[in-house]
Amino acid sequence: MIRVENLHFAYNGREVLRGIDLVFGEEILALVGPNGSGKTTLAKHLNGLLKPTRGRVLVDGMDTREHTVAELSRKVGYVFQNPEHMFFEETVFKEVAFGPKNLGLDDSEVEERVRWTLGAVGLEGFEERTPYSLSGGEKQRLAIACVLAMRPKYLILDEPTTGLDWKAERSVVETIKSLREDGHGILLITHDMDLVLELAERVVLLENGKKAFDGPVEEFFSLDLERHGLEMPELLVLAEKLGAGFVRSVEELAGRVRQ
Ligand code: ADP
Repeated sequence: MIRVENLHFAYNGREVLRGIDLVFGEEILALVGPNGSGKTTLAKHLNGLLKPTRGRVLVDGMDTREHTVAELSRKVGYVFQNPEHMFFEETVFKEVAFGPKNLGLDDSEVEERVRWTLGAVGLEGFEERTPYSLSGGEKQRLAIACVLAMRPKYLILDEPTTGLDWKAERSVVETIKSLREDGHGILLITHDMDLVLELAERVVLLENGKKAFDGPVEEFFSLDLERHGLEMPELLVLAEKLGAGFVRSVEELAGRVRQ
């Protein structure tokens, strides 16, 4: 469980998080809100990249102020936006092996972990490829693999599908679903309301450094999203026109319409 208690944070005296309380566990939690609302700043507190100005963050009971990022990143993996900037090895295998090697695991353990991790993100067979030769979706899944190789319980994914074409986006969505099934807690930072509808179990809306909403996904989509500067997913607009109520997939909508 990650527990955020009365979190305040200021950059150079300017407060950008203003009293956030949040409990996050084994679930897909979408963190949404306008640019500059504090999403990244909040997420960076969860693995100790930033430390609270006031309040505290507990990761499975560990106070982030008392632990290093290296310690915390074994619990909370952070997959940054634009992952290609983080690759520096010649092969996919070496890229994923880098973290486990640094943990001091022996070669056979490292190899086993790399194979398991590449399997988990659907990149088996890519071991000898150069990271730069991968497609957008493959790069995103490699970035997830690099973080996953540290076996963190929680994953933070920052705009994981931005800039991807449909097919690549599907591959990342399927990867996220299978990570959730494997018992990971996933914090998804996104602007994409279609993605929120498809994946999230719960939504936290930040506005101006404060929580404006925290609740189940269905309740989130019953808000007047336009008032919050957000767009309703097309699927829900269509479902409403058809009088079908709340649905999460095209299949579900088709089923309702047939009834
Ligand atoms: P979001 O992820 O929701 O777009 P951020 O957490 O990136 O929001 O930013 C919240 C606020 O903090 C913004 O006003 C932003 O300009 C400011 N900010 C972000 N990073 C820094 C930084 N390194 N130094 C100073 N101000 C920052």
